[in-house]
Amino acid sequence: MFNKILIANRGEIACRVIRTAHKLGIRCVAVYSEADANAMHVAMADEAVCVGPAASKDSYLKMDTILQVAKETGAQAIHPGYGFLSENAPFVQKCQEAGVAFIGPPADAIRAMGSKSAAKRIMEEANVPLVPGYHGDDQDPALLKKHSDEMGYPVLLKATAGGGGKGMRVVWAPDEFTSALDAAKREAINGFADDTMLVEKYLTKPRHVEIQVFCDQHGNSVYLAERDCSVQRRHQKVVEEAPAPGMSDELRKAMGEAAVRAAEAIGYVGAGTVEFLLDEDGSFYFMEMNTRLQVEHPVTELITGQDLVEWQLAVAANQPLPISQDEVQIKGHAVEVRIYAEDPDNDFLPATGKLEYLRTPEENRHVRVDTGVREGDEVSIYYDPMIAKLIVWDENRDRALQRMSQALAEYRIAGMKTNTHFLKRLIDHKAFRDAELDTGFIEKHEADLFENTPTDSQTGSRAGSQSANPLAMATLYTLLKQQQSRQAEAIHSHDGTSPWHQFSGWRLNEEPTHVVRFSQEGTDQEKIEHEVTVNWLDHGYRLTLDGHIMIVDGKLNDDRLHANVNGHNRNAFVAELNGHVTVFTDQGAFEYQWQRPDLDSHDFEEEKASLTAPMNGSIVAVLVEQGQKVTKGTAMVIMEAMKMEHTITASVDGTVTEIFFQTGDLVEGGADLVAFEAEETD
Ligand code: ADP
Repeated sequence: MFNKILIANRGEIACRVIRTAHKLGIRCVAVYSEADANAMHVAMADEAVCVGPAASKDSYLKMDTILQVAKETGAQAIHPGYGFLSENAPFVQKCQEAGVAFIGPPADAIRAMGSKSAAKRIMEEANVPLVPGYHGDDQDPALLKKHSDEMGYPVLLKATAGGGGKGMRVVWAPDEFTSALDAAKREAINGFADDTMLVEKYLTKPRHVEIQVFCDQHGNSVYLAERDCSVQRRHQKVVEEAPAPGMSDELRKAMGEAAVRAAEAIGYVGAGTVEFLLDEDGSFYFMEMNTRLQVEHPVTELITGQDLVEWQLAVAANQPLPISQDEVQIKGHAVEVRIYAEDPDNDFLPATGKLEYLRTPEENRHVRVDTGVREGDEVSIYYDPMIAKLIVWDENRDRALQRMSQALAEYRIAGMKTNTHFLKRLIDHKAFRDAELDTGFIEKHEADLFENTPTDSQTGSRAGSQSANPLAMATLYTLLKQQQSRQAEAIHSHDGTSPWHQFSGWRLNEEPTHVVRFSQEGTDQEKIEHEVTVNWLDHGYRLTLDGHIMIVDGKLNDDRLHANVNGHNRNAFVAELNGHVTVFTDQGAFEYQWQRPDLDSHDFEEEKASLTAPMNGSIVAVLVEQGQKVTKGTAMVIMEAMKMEHTITASVDGTVTEIFFQTGDLVEGGADLVAFEAEETD
């Protein structure tokens, strides 16, 4: 076994690899970019070397620099994690030439699977079932269209070099073909510098079921059951679970054996995943093979009791696989969700910023948190905005989902938009509980999953008593907070007993009442105003809010609020950042903007209405001209940011009066992209 390895990655996967390496007594060298000098993986490693500026291409993708660091530090092997250099055949070649072991498959296996179309040809020969389609070299658009017309719509266009759902477009009808092809090619050029396309039949209700395979250098191969990753958005996985609900032993065996055939056909070594589409009738089709450790590998670890990174290290050190196919056992059920800095209610727009407040559920034999960030860390524009993977295990699926729901409620993040709410709704959704899974799940249940405030789903109305609770707690928090600061002031003052230092509603010649104002972002980003009237009682307060009267009292210890609302004890955590009060309850997080009497209220609406860049990025296409009249919804500019395309559309009818950028320009988040005159309506 190795004594020292280098990890050519960052974030949660770098930390994940270090954990196993340390367990085995292997020392770890981290590499990092200038933006990551204080990152968690750097802190966890035994040594760390800066390899360049923030942009990945100048740091994490610098093959020669990374190899040089391996040499200088005496690392015997390189673990590439996923992404970055993990599926880069030239890098594997370079490692080999430098005498450093690559913890992954041989360069030829990566090459064979690097192109989706070449992979399909190999699989055809190995008798692995394929989705009908065209994967030839001739890329004449007319020919691609002809194949699509013959196959019948819908069809799916895929960049053969693609990954992560990018460079893919569904085409529903012949007249959409050309524009879809252009868009897919554009995304592919930007993402992978290669716009070769394949077309295949688009299955309308498939499940994504993938098989984990492992091969050693002694000719042994095994499959470690499957993962169901059907719940996706923009063809990217959101929830992964193992085993796949409803999987029979026969189907598992058939798919597992097909996956092993696929791996053996390319002389595979190490951890790999063969992805299949599973159709409603039980037929399955090869989609692609990922020649690396997958993001979702932990669910397989939790049901098999194996450490896949340990297996990877063993295989790379030329040891045989630790168990044979007969010894693979599956126990219980595991589920993983990916916690992202993003806004699900705004088309999953990635978010960036500082993780000002971050609390994670306690880890134990049921709950695992794989993360690469701590409170105070930055989610930057340079890398994937994943904050963590949350993984749970239990005896069966129902119990595992219950655990997941609970763990999500305990995952508390404030100061940044995240998808934790959305994930909780998804996990709690009846259709998901009933395992009615297919890749269209999120679209199908859109109406239930995307409401903005958690209040709506629980009560059906915002004025319901349950929705009043978090508001009452937010109010109580502000009252206790003010009381604490008055007390602190009194300690420092000469006249501590002065009524001016007490926060008791005492006013000269006035009733002891006080009004607290909050605003809240509701569905469609409209603002909901709340006004709470507070009356001081001997013990606690009487609140009048949204038509309810509530008697509240409680204690505040840092972020922990012990509240009593109408005689009912309720505990919550509260985070306050820049006037935003977030109350974390079992029902989810409720965020309010506290309109402190001394602060100008901030108008969010105006910011949102303008045609500005949602984040730093580059302009991919300008679709309008100066002076052009457009109608509401017209796409005006396409930007690329964080490897995704974002379309900026007109929110009302009007005229474009000026365009500030051209294709190829870099823009900063918040920059005005076009000047626009709305049409007068009377
Ligand atoms: P990527 O490499 O970008 O992840 P994949 O080929 O793995 O692309 O496909 C990603 C997802 O797109 C799949 O999980 C599935 O949901 C969907 N998909 C791919 N091919 C088809 C198809 N032929 N029919 C329906 N859905 C598909």
